[in-house]
Amino acid sequence: MPNLFREGIDTMDTNEMGVKGIEIEGDATAMDPSFSELVVQRGAENLLACYQCQKCSAGCPLAYAMDILPNRVIRMVQFGLRDRVLASNTIWICASCYTCSVRCPNDIDIAKIMDILRHIALKSKVKPAQKDIPIFHSVFLDSIRSKGRIHELGLIWQYKAKTRDFMKDAALGWKMFRKGKIKLLPSKFGGGREMRDIFNRYEKGK
Ligand code: SF4
Ligand code: SF4
Repeated sequence: MPNLFREGIDTMDTNEMGVKGIEIEGDATAMDPSFSELVVQRGAENLLACYQCQKCSAGCPLAYAMDILPNRVIRMVQFGLRDRVLASNTIWICASCYTCSVRCPNDIDIAKIMDILRHIALKSKVKPAQKDIPIFHSVFLDSIRSKGRIHELGLIWQYKAKTRDFMKDAALGWKMFRKGKIKLLPSKFGGGREMRDIFNRYEKGK
């Protein structure tokens, strides 16, 4: 495995912790070279090809709500600024719409990288910037993992049990139930085992 951190630094026009025109404040001791390697290993192809054109951030429909713009997240991952990236609200605000991935001239799948970062954040001890979104994210994935597909009522129940916020959106939930949008029982799905295999293979890094 090449030393991605050094190669990334050496090929960029940098000013200490930043890139010309894009200031990234921080402490050099907070840089973790193995972080960018881990993200690449998890599937972030072309990560080092980013030349900060900012097309990803310019097209992101949720950029206004993010604390770190998507192009800067990419740069910070290159620099190995692990804790700052994992503690950002950007990785939880991202809606996986893939607009950024489609716009990137270097075929960097930014949406996929956001997903990789969310997964690493859930496994890490870094305190998330958002409280409820990470809970929903992990409940959603647990549901897919155990049943192969989503059962909305079960998902809502697990989410409510973890957030302890039982009344929020209750009126909307009741309305959806009455219109048949939320089923009492899960529908049958035969691919549960295959889905579990996919999760297990991903976690083993295969
Ligand atoms: S669009 Fe691609 S190359 Fe441009 S800043 Fe975003 S990730 Fe980097
Ligand atoms: S996938 Fe996420 S980062 Fe990319 S454009 Fe959509 S919301 Fe923004």
